[in-house]
Amino acid sequence: MSVPVGGGAEAALGAVRARLARARRVAALTGAGVSAASGLPTFRGALGFWREHRAEDLATPQAYARDPLLVWEWYAARFHAAAAAAPNGAHLHLARLEAQLPDFTLVTQNVDGLHARSGSRRVLELHGNLTKSRCERCGHLDALAPGFALPPCCSRCGSRARPNVVWFGEHLPERAFEAAAAAFSRAEVALVIGTSGVVEPAASLGRLAAQRGAVVVEINPEPTPLTPYATLSLRQDAVSGLHALLGPLTPPPG
Ligand code: NAD
Ligand code: ZN
Repeated sequence: MSVPVGGGAEAALGAVRARLARARRVAALTGAGVSAASGLPTFRGALGFWREHRAEDLATPQAYARDPLLVWEWYAARFHAAAAAAPNGAHLHLARLEAQLPDFTLVTQNVDGLHARSGSRRVLELHGNLTKSRCERCGHLDALAPGFALPPCCSRCGSRARPNVVWFGEHLPERAFEAAAAAFSRAEVALVIGTSGVVEPAASLGRLAAQRGAVVVEINPEPTPLTPYATLSLRQDAVSGLHALLGPLTPPPG
């Protein structure tokens, strides 16, 4: 069922809250909407276009082959925006859940690194991370520093390096996806937050959890293709949705 902001479905929300409080195995899938409150736009939002290019046309191996500098300039702009951004309450709620649960898996499609910066220790980054470059020749990863030169070169062999992200049409890191699928298969509660649910195979994780009988909670101001699989859809932004589900963020113990 869908629960709008201030809607009258408190009973459904209460039941899910109680289930979550009892759960030991929880998995969460996050998308660009989780970083929206940190000022980082989504692909379906302001980042849909950069200069005159569609984001989906820039995040491809074909775009990089055609114009590597253009693609790097876009990633450099996003790198600097992410570096200047601070984690928001949604990131903090998820870091807190990890600390509270014996079996919590955080799977993200985000490449901004904000989950790790908010204290999440173990994050499965399905689409890589824009804070690093990856050598096109030897695969070595280098951390990017503010103001890095374009295109970056590998610190080990000197060859040109590409952004360490997964582009549309590329394969996901196999082990990370397997671990994500295993976590969503065994989860008692699965949270699907701020993702359009159209990028596969990440979106399949929400369906997998539903098929295995998990309580699936979607948090997204808009309906998505994952909505029919959700036990409960909170039509809220990520921060207030997690707040409704988990209660206020209290300072960490100690
Ligand atoms: P998306 O841009 O396709 O969709 C974002 C979703 O978030 C939409 O469904 C939207 O309704 C929802 N949303 C918007 N504001 C929200 C808020 N405040 N709280 C909760 N939900 C909100 O993003 P996606 O589904 O993550 O997938 C597209 C690809 O975009 C991924 O591969 C990802 O790597 C990439 N991406 C990453 C970032 C980032 O790292 N911050 C930013 C933009 C795009
Ligand atoms: Zn190299």
